[in-house]
Amino acid sequence: MKNRIALLAAVALAGMVAGCRSTSGPQAVESGSDTVDATLPTQLPWTAIPSHYAIQVTPHADQLTFDGTVAIDLKVIKPTSTLVLNAANLTIGSATVTPAGGKAAAAKISTDADAQTATFDFGQTLQPGDYRLDIRYAGKINQQANGLFALDYTNVDGKAARALFTQFEASDARRFVPSWDEPDYKARFDLTARIPADQMAVGNMPQASLKDVGNGLKEVTFQTTPVMSSYLLFFAAGDFDRITKQAGDREVGVVMSRGNGDKAGYALDAEAQILPYYNEYFGTPYPLPKLDNVAGPGQSQFFGAMENWGAIFTFERSLLLDPDITSESRKQDIFGTEAHEMAHMWFGDLVTMAWWDDLWLNEGFASWMANKTTQHFHPDWGGDVDQVADREQAMALDSFVTTHPVVQHVRTVEQANQAFDDITYAKGQSVISMLEGFVGADVWRQGIRAYMAKFKYKNTRTADLWAAVEGAGAKNLTQVARDFTMQPGIPLITVGPSRCVNGRTQATITQTQFSNDRRQQAMASPLNWHVPVRAIAGNGSASLTITQGRTQQIEAPGCGVLLINPGQTGYFRTLYAPDQSEALRRAMPGLAAVDQYGLISDAFALSTAGFQPYSRALDLLATLPANAHSKLIELAAGRWVGLFDTLEGNAAAQAAIRDRASRLFWPRLQQLGFAPRNNDTPLDALLRSALIEDLGYLGEPHVVAEGQRLFGAWQRDPKAIPGPLKVSWLGVIARNANPQTWAAIHRIAAATHGTVERSTYYALLGSAKDEALARQALALSLTREPGNTVSADIISEVSHEHPQLALDFVLSHLPQIEPLIDLSAASRYVAELADDSDDATLIPKLESYAKAHLKPEDARPVQHAIGRIRWKAGNKPRIQSETIAWLKAHPAIS
Ligand SMILES: [Zn+2]
Repeated sequence: MKNRIALLAAVALAGMVAGCRSTSGPQAVESGSDTVDATLPTQLPWTAIPSHYAIQVTPHADQLTFDGTVAIDLKVIKPTSTLVLNAANLTIGSATVTPAGGKAAAAKISTDADAQTATFDFGQTLQPGDYRLDIRYAGKINQQANGLFALDYTNVDGKAARALFTQFEASDARRFVPSWDEPDYKARFDLTARIPADQMAVGNMPQASLKDVGNGLKEVTFQTTPVMSSYLLFFAAGDFDRITKQAGDREVGVVMSRGNGDKAGYALDAEAQILPYYNEYFGTPYPLPKLDNVAGPGQSQFFGAMENWGAIFTFERSLLLDPDITSESRKQDIFGTEAHEMAHMWFGDLVTMAWWDDLWLNEGFASWMANKTTQHFHPDWGGDVDQVADREQAMALDSFVTTHPVVQHVRTVEQANQAFDDITYAKGQSVISMLEGFVGADVWRQGIRAYMAKFKYKNTRTADLWAAVEGAGAKNLTQVARDFTMQPGIPLITVGPSRCVNGRTQATITQTQFSNDRRQQAMASPLNWHVPVRAIAGNGSASLTITQGRTQQIEAPGCGVLLINPGQTGYFRTLYAPDQSEALRRAMPGLAAVDQYGLISDAFALSTAGFQPYSRALDLLATLPANAHSKLIELAAGRWVGLFDTLEGNAAAQAAIRDRASRLFWPRLQQLGFAPRNNDTPLDALLRSALIEDLGYLGEPHVVAEGQRLFGAWQRDPKAIPGPLKVSWLGVIARNANPQTWAAIHRIAAATHGTVERSTYYALLGSAKDEALARQALALSLTREPGNTVSADIISEVSHEHPQLALDFVLSHLPQIEPLIDLSAASRYVAELADDSDDATLIPKLESYAKAHLKPEDARPVQHAIGRIRWKAGNKPRIQSETIAWLKAHPAIS
C-alpha cells in the first residue's frame, strides 16, 4: 500500500515541515502448516485451515448492498464442534459443513461485532479431515474505501456514474466474505460476479468465462488465483476502459473510467518498463498471467494505492497523467507509486509477512525498491537526495518517545491500521539502504533472490530475511539489522576533535541516543546499537567502523575535513565538535548534494532539540551556494517558510525572512521563469513549483502579483495557467484569498467534472488564511456538494493554517464527520489535524477525545500528537529568540 500524499504540496510544506477449480493445492496446505505457531497473535482459534474459496457475489450498486455465497474447502486440524471465521457487517443467512464423501450438516450461527467474527456451531464434533463449508450471506457496499465500496463521479458524458471497487488491507476482506482473514491463512480464490451487462469487471486474474444471465446482467468468472492472503483479493466493476501492452510474456494494463484512456499511457509505459527489471532483480518471474492497475476516482484518508495481486488499485490522481492538472512532482509520484506497488507483487504478495508485526517487510521493501527503481530509470530526478529526505521523515517520528520499533507488536485491527506509518515505510526503507550499503549491493540481491525462491507462496518473519542474506555471504548482518529493527529510536554519534597522525585522520566517537522529547534521559541511559559508521577525511577513501559500546576511536585515510556518514545511508545523527562543525561549514560548497542535505538536516534537528545552538544550523543554511542542487534550494526555501511560521505574530521578523527569501530565491525563480519551458529538466520543473509555492506563501511581491494576474486570466480562460503549475499558482491565490477570489474558486470547482481537478479545487477552498473563509470551507465540507471522499480533505487543509478551528469543528461534529473518513483512518484522522501545531491549548481537547472515543491500546497517534505539540510549544520561545538574534546579526546582503 502506498500512503496517501498531501494534495497541496505548499500547504503541507508550510506546516513544515492501500475456472479450473482446484481443491487444496499442495502449496496452500504447506503454507498453512508452516505457520502453525502459538506465538502468532491470531485472533481465530487454530482449528481449521482453508485451502480454497469459491465466492459468488451480486452487487446491488443502487441500494449499496450485495448478496454472496461462498464455498470454502478446508482441513480441520483439531477436533472441534465450531468453526470461527472473520466476518464484519455481514448478515449470514445459512451455513452447512460437508465432510469429504459425507452428508451436509447445518450450523447454528452467531456473530460478534467487536471481535469481527462469525461462529458456526454444528452441534457435533468435526474430526480432523477435509470439509466444505457453504455460506449464504449479504453485505453492505460502503462509501469510503473499506470492503466493497462505491465511488461516485461525473462521467465523460456529464452524467452521474458509480463504480465499485474493493479495499481489504489490513482487515477488511471480512466485510466482503466470511473468511480466515489473517495474512498467514493463504488459500486459492475463485470469484464470480453478476454485474450489469454493459459494465466491465476486473479481478486478480483474467476472466475465465462469461455468460448472459438475463435481466440486463452478465456473470463473469475469473481464473483461480495462486495461493495468497485474503487481503490481496480484488474485484471492481464499472463503466471502464482498459489499455494494455506486452511486457515480455505478460500483459500489463491500466483500467480507468471510460473516456480517460489517453491519460493512462504514462502509467502503462512505466508498468511495462518496471516488470522486466523486477523479474531480473528478484530472480523469480512475476507469476500471474496479467497485471492491471485500476484507477478509482476520489481519494482516501488512509492510502493512495493498494497492491492487490494482479490488480493494483490506485486513486486517479496518482495514476492518470492529466495535462490540465498534473504537476511534475505528481508525475514523478505516478512512477514512484507504480514502482512501489509492483514491488509488492513480490514483497507482500508472493512472500507475505506472517503477521502485521512484520508489516515493514512489505512496506519498507516496497518503498526502498521504488526509490532504487526510480534512480535506475530516472537518474536525473534526484532520487539519492530524496532518500535522505525519506530518512528525515522517519526520524521526525522516531525522535519522540511515542515511536516504536520497525518490528512491532500488533494485537488489534486498529493497531494493524496504525502500523502503516513513517516508521514502517520510511525507517524500513532507510534501514534497508543502510544494510544494502553494509553488505554490498550484489550480496544483498543474491540474498533477496534466495529469500524469494525459498519462501514463494509462503509467509515469513524478519529473521527469515536476515538468514537468507547471511546465507548469500553477508557477514555480521544480523546483529546490526536486529538492533535497528527491534529497537526504536535514533543513535547519536558525537565526534570529538580530530587530529592528523601519519597521514590518517583520527577522532573519538561516542554513541548515545538522539531524542526530541527526552534528550537528557536518552543521553544518560541510551539504547545501544551496532552502528556501521563510515568516515571520510578530505579527498581520502571512506573507512567503516561498527560501533561497540559507548566510545571508540575511528580513523580515516588522508588528512582533511572529517565527514561522518558520507552518502548519508547511515541511520543515525552526527553531532560534531564546534571546530569541526565550522570546518564542515566552510567545506560545504564542495560537498556532494546528498551530504549537504544530510548536514543541514542533522544541524536543524540537533539545534531544534537543544543539542547545539540554533545559530549553528542557520549558519550552515546561509553557507549554501546560490547555484546549489535544486533539491537543496527547495530544502532551504522550506526551512525559511518553517521559520516564518514559527515567528507568527512578529511582523518585523517575518518581514525580515520574506526579504531574505526574496533576495535568496527570487533570482533563481527569475532564471527558471514563471511558466514551463521546453528545455526544462525535471529538477527545473520541480524547483519552479516549489519556489512559486514557498515565495507565494511568504507573500513575496513579484510572485503574488503574477499569481493575481494569472488568476484573473484563468477565470476567463481555463488554459491560462499551465496545467503542471495550476496547483502551485492556485495554492498561492487560495491561501491569500478574499471573499471574491474564494467565491470564484468555489464556482469553478462546482462546474468542473474531471474528478482530480474538481477535488483539487475543493481542497484549495480549505487553505485560506482568512478565518471567516476557513469557517465557510468547514461548513461546505458537511454538505453533499464536494462529494463523499473529498470533504475530509477540505477539513485537513483547514487544519494546516487553523488547527484549533479544524479540531474544534471536527470534535463538535463527530457523528457527521465519521462517514467522511475510511474506517482504517478513523483512529488517526483527529490526531493528524493537530499534530503539526505548536498550540498547547489543543492538548486537553485531544486528551478528552482519546478518553471518550479510543481504546487505550489504540490511542498512540493521539499520544504522539500531544507529545509533539507539547515539545513544539516548549521550544518555540527559544527558537524565536535565537532566530531573531541571528537575523539581526546577519542582515541580508543587498
Ligand atoms: Zn505499500
